[in-house]
Amino acid sequence: MPRAYHVMVKPRGAICNLECAYCYFLTKEQLYPNSRFRMSDATLESFTRQYIESQPAAPEVTFAWQGGEPTLMGLDFFRRAVELQQKYRRPGLRISNAIQTNATTLDPDWCRFFRRHDFLLGISLDGPRDVHDFYRRDKGGRPTFDRVMAGLRLAQEHGVEFNILCTVHAANAPHPVEVYRFFRDEVAAQSRGGAPFFIQFIPIVERDNETGYSPAAGLAYESAQVTERSVQAAQYGEFLIGVFDEWVRRDVGRIYVQIFDTALAAWLGERPGLCVYEETCGAALVMEHNGDLFACDHFVEPRCLLGNISDTALSDLVASPQQHAFGMAKWETLPACCRRCEVRFVCNGECPKNRIRTTPDGEPGLNYLCEGLKLFFTHIDAPMRFMANELRNRRPPANIMAFLAEQEQKLEAKFACAGRNEPCPCGSGKKFKLCHGRRTISNT
Ligand code: SF4
Ligand code: SF4
Repeated sequence: MPRAYHVMVKPRGAICNLECAYCYFLTKEQLYPNSRFRMSDATLESFTRQYIESQPAAPEVTFAWQGGEPTLMGLDFFRRAVELQQKYRRPGLRISNAIQTNATTLDPDWCRFFRRHDFLLGISLDGPRDVHDFYRRDKGGRPTFDRVMAGLRLAQEHGVEFNILCTVHAANAPHPVEVYRFFRDEVAAQSRGGAPFFIQFIPIVERDNETGYSPAAGLAYESAQVTERSVQAAQYGEFLIGVFDEWVRRDVGRIYVQIFDTALAAWLGERPGLCVYEETCGAALVMEHNGDLFACDHFVEPRCLLGNISDTALSDLVASPQQHAFGMAKWETLPACCRRCEVRFVCNGECPKNRIRTTPDGEPGLNYLCEGLKLFFTHIDAPMRFMANELRNRRPPANIMAFLAEQEQKLEAKFACAGRNEPCPCGSGKKFKLCHGRRTISNT
């Protein structure tokens, strides 16, 4: 049994009121033909009891509700979930709830409930209107931005805590700064009391097939081809760099971007704390509406079904050799070029679901995003070293902002005195007139 594990619960299966073009959940309906996709009270109670009892030493147990759109279960389901959590809670145990939602179903009743029971919402929003609406549409093909923002504003008005989950895809990847500033200036700015604000960026790497898995390929994921909606590898790196360069100059300690926090942990020599950047995985499982437990949310496919919690104890499924092998395979199948890579300590070959390319030596299992991951992790090396050093010396990593401002001021002073044909003071090795001098010269 892993020391701590986490199960995402899909009480409504893959059912959703929207139909985002890139959503990999929707096709999962095909796993359960003729199902009503509603978790029964017996399954909810059995899971709640087993989930709490199987973590006897944990000071806190987190219930994570996922979909599809989990709010389609209705409020009474979640009232019952909270009631059952209290029934099985042992003295001193903290229970928390997190729910992933597209926010379009929220109303004052939902918000009051979430506030009263301290639910943390993960709201899916891909940026400003145009880029959000590009793929995030409802079943009639209508845009959803206004409905998402209405739900988000309602959550803000009621003081409900929420994070932003932004997928990075072909439509928003070319606009990193615009997307990030929208979250900071239009969304975070209206949250209560200047509280810290959290954003997760999730790359869309969408296999070009119907189901994500293929019976022909032995029920394994198939196709090394990705759809045109997917973010390109280098584009993903450039997106993260664009966001990072804006964040590191203005918002450290105020806005928290998950991949930056993860990277800082790695630069401190700690475990990244996010499964996709860990050496091994297997502690983030997912349970379908009927009690079927799968190895991971990204591997809800027949070969990764561990069993059903009504037939086999949840703790036995989590500790099963099959799940252990799933988690270890992440490390065991890491290609040699990743093992030699300078940023392996933070990247670890990213998530196995994206390892669909071959290495230059012809070895399978290279991550589709490799080029972008390498670009990004290399780009942030110097500022990450600075912030890690501040933390080791018990100083705030936010000192990076003043440090960079001073460096940039000094550089501007050197630009002002540089001759057209001299090497550029930025250290690029190019002549000034062909580098930063272009800006000065074209302004005169
Ligand atoms: S397969 Fe990917 S998402 Fe799933 S647990 Fe492993 S690293 Fe995490
Ligand atoms: S950057 Fe590329 S080569 Fe390096 S560890 Fe990540 S996936 Fe492997």
